[in-house]
Amino acid sequence: MLKLKTTFLALALAGAAMMATGLTASAQDKATVGIAMPTKSSARWIDDGNNMVKVLKERGYNTDLQYAEDDIPNQLSQVENMVTKGAKALVIAAIDGTTLSDVLKQAKAKGITVIAYDRLIRGTPNVDYYATFDNFQVGVLQAQSIEQGLGLKDGKGPFNIELFGGSPDDNNAYFFYNGAMSVLKPYIDSGKLVVASGQMGMDKVATLRWDGATAQARMDNLLSAYYGNKKINAVLSPYDGISIGIISSLKGVGYGSADQPMPVISGQDAEVPSIKAMLRGDQYSTIFKDTRDLAKVTADMVDAALGGKQVAVNDTKTYENGVKTVPSYLLKPVVVYKDNWEKVLVESGYYKKAQFQ
Ligand code: BGC
Repeated sequence: MLKLKTTFLALALAGAAMMATGLTASAQDKATVGIAMPTKSSARWIDDGNNMVKVLKERGYNTDLQYAEDDIPNQLSQVENMVTKGAKALVIAAIDGTTLSDVLKQAKAKGITVIAYDRLIRGTPNVDYYATFDNFQVGVLQAQSIEQGLGLKDGKGPFNIELFGGSPDDNNAYFFYNGAMSVLKPYIDSGKLVVASGQMGMDKVATLRWDGATAQARMDNLLSAYYGNKKINAVLSPYDGISIGIISSLKGVGYGSADQPMPVISGQDAEVPSIKAMLRGDQYSTIFKDTRDLAKVTADMVDAALGGKQVAVNDTKTYENGVKTVPSYLLKPVVVYKDNWEKVLVESGYYKKAQFQ
């Protein structure tokens, strides 16, 4: 009798403690989710990490969020730690999509659900799902903004353009480039766009680790080698951080003035400094990818997989990782210009207007 009473008391106390912390009994049972992000050097990944933690916590999960500062061995050991510490699911935005095979084999052996977040994990059967945006469409939108900025559809031209790609170890970079080229190539073939350097193809235009300084150095070289006596009218840039490097290089040789206007420059991620650059007229467009939606879709995947339910995907054909086609959920990217940035970024609550004043 006494024993029964003690047990009852213990349960009652535990119940009160749970209520006090706002957790329900079922939420307390929920698992830890390891979240591996590539770097804090770009605001988008900070938003991604924060949004993932927020959504998962709301659903009662514990989270273990790690950033690897673009260091591949660092990310590997972070993921190994998550596996050792008993995570039930891993959400990974890989630095290099091909370097995680061994640790994911261990994860699989322990029955851990593995979700590739935004970037595809390649060369392993041990990735269960992929949550991302329509990456080909990102490239299409970037190139269409250049088409619009130059007036190519109205038959204007010929114009000089240079092409920049993303990091060659990131599967997304190829999708962005191929999407963009699906729009630009016909104009290059017809001579309405001229790549004065002749540098085309990811093997020539990629930017390791998406690094702005690397892009700036390449732009310096392009300008001095090919644009001594001609003007550049457009630059395909796959990412805002790369656009910043390109803009610095152009400013260094006098672009951005009345007689030497900035070329039409694309971007991606709608980062605050680049929206400001757009408002100044230095950058022409960027692509907004709502990381709140990506976090939600990813948390839905975690919930369904751990709950033994069917995981919602909307693409089962596109993302072949060298071993298998990974079932994916693709969200829609949105192009941002000077005239719609407030509607897309501020009215949606993603940013506050004050961040731009
Ligand atoms: C992401 C982009 C981002 C880039 C650089 C890509 O994998 O999809 O949104 O601009 O990495 O961080």
